[in-house]
Amino acid sequence: MTLKECSDLYLTGTMRINNKGHLELGGMDTIDLAERFKTPLWVIDEKGFRDNCRSYRDAFLEYGDSLVLYASKSLSCTAVCRIIDEEGLGLDVVSGGELYTALRAGFPAEKIFFHGNNKSREEMMIALEAGIGTFVVDNFYELKTLNGLAEEKGIVQNIMLRITPGVEAHTHEYIKTGQIDSKFGFTLTDGQAWDAVLMALNSPNLYFKGLHCHIGSQIFEVESFQHTIELMTEFMTKIKKEAGHELAELNLGGGFGIFYTPGDLPPSPKQWANTIMNHVKSQIEKRGLTMPRVIIEPGRALISPAGITLYTVGADKEVTGIRKYIAVDGGMNDNPRPALYEAKFTALIANKADRKAEETVSIAGKCCESGDMLIWDAKLPKAEAGDILAVFATGAYTYSMSSNYNRIPRPAMVLVNEGNADIIIERETYEDLVRKDKLPKRLEK
Ligand code: PLP
Repeated sequence: MTLKECSDLYLTGTMRINNKGHLELGGMDTIDLAERFKTPLWVIDEKGFRDNCRSYRDAFLEYGDSLVLYASKSLSCTAVCRIIDEEGLGLDVVSGGELYTALRAGFPAEKIFFHGNNKSREEMMIALEAGIGTFVVDNFYELKTLNGLAEEKGIVQNIMLRITPGVEAHTHEYIKTGQIDSKFGFTLTDGQAWDAVLMALNSPNLYFKGLHCHIGSQIFEVESFQHTIELMTEFMTKIKKEAGHELAELNLGGGFGIFYTPGDLPPSPKQWANTIMNHVKSQIEKRGLTMPRVIIEPGRALISPAGITLYTVGADKEVTGIRKYIAVDGGMNDNPRPALYEAKFTALIANKADRKAEETVSIAGKCCESGDMLIWDAKLPKAEAGDILAVFATGAYTYSMSSNYNRIPRPAMVLVNEGNADIIIERETYEDLVRKDKLPKRLEK
């Protein structure tokens, strides 16, 4: 595949190659961005991000009552929360920090869903004080604690129960019996989920509104969702028949796959909406239930394709007959996914974006760790020190999973749109790295 053919696959949103042969997005030349904001640099294409939000929101709404929540674990910061609010989506948060960020951004509390397998009393209290819409209750401890806290506050809190349905889905495959062994949720197959239902219905300060599940990430197979819908609606039927309680909401989680490398062929938002909504409808009708509001909570599918990371090329090393390493000024600090999950990415040289690929090289990060590799087999034009490398689809799980390993400051993040670039997360400085350090008196000089 030539670079041109390949690049058509991953230039999404407003990304294009301009007449200087440079990669451009949001009307900004990436080489100018690298000069102005330095590298490594996370860049988010605002229009691309908004379009992804709208595509999912509108595709599901076309089929009926539905709500798209943005999974803020994929990228949480104030500007992103503002955009999600403007696009009319709800928000999934999973910690006090994500909740705090959303509230600081002025996100409507009633549209926040609070996940997490070990919410602390303090986190629960903050969420109750803020008046958040829904707790996605994960375990018996949380059911009991939350009911007590809601009682203290004199309120009735809406909850969903997180169910582990026994479907594990990954790209290209799904396993029907996997995932029972999970730290998340109430297991469906061993009676635990039923016990949780009874406990929820007997908790006077909780209103049991619906069921939640999440079967995996980077999923391409619609069948895995169909199978999950069958299990979840079967359980909803049992709840109606045996406990006399009909549920108003069914949250099927996130995990919608995206294009990272050639060969990744994710269904479109329309295809997902068509399959999911129609399958819920047919299952609900078949079982004589009332159609619930269908909720999904994608993270990656909304933000990742809209994000790129810019790096400056530095050293290179040829291992004769084996491979050529090209090192960049970032790595596992700003994108731990290749090291953690063997995640694959596509890249091009942003200042040579119109040139043909000439060699296959391995892109190394700068951390003191052999596993700090960003891409093992990148097909690129000849890379030289000073070139700007753009890695695609890095909006999700990069900043949010970043670290200061080797005491490397985190990059800045800029939001680009119609020829404007605004910093939405400042670059960390060396001073930031030592800000929380404390020196015991006896070590002072
Ligand atoms: N919901 C839950 C409960 C999750 O655990 C995750 C990711 O781990 C998501 C939603 C978002 O997944 P994705 O970003 O793959 O859509």
